[in-house]
Amino acid sequence: MDSPEQSEHGLHKEHPPLLCHRCGAMLTPGRGDFYVVRIEAFADPTPPDLLSDEYADIDPSEEIDRLLEVMRHMSEQELMDQVYRRMTIHMCRSCYLPWIENPSG
Ligand SMILES: [Zn+2]
Repeated sequence: MDSPEQSEHGLHKEHPPLLCHRCGAMLTPGRGDFYVVRIEAFADPTPPDLLSDEYADIDPSEEIDRLLEVMRHMSEQELMDQVYRRMTIHMCRSCYLPWIENPSG
């Protein structure tokens, strides 16, 4: 029979130190002295309104060719970064508290 305790042996690797994203202070998990901030950003998901006047004179197939030509010169990662980004950062309490009041400042 397998002992469920055995899997614990693999868990003693040391974690890399957690540092505050802003000031570089060492953060200690379990003390409740820092915050985890998840950032999710994506480009405007609204499809262009092809019936509006602005697009009336554009041949859609020409426009697609143009976009494909632009995309050909970008790496897959660049394309992904332009559309969607997600990151997790850690902040100590004294950096987090003023930041969350004005995250885009
Ligand atoms: Zn900090």
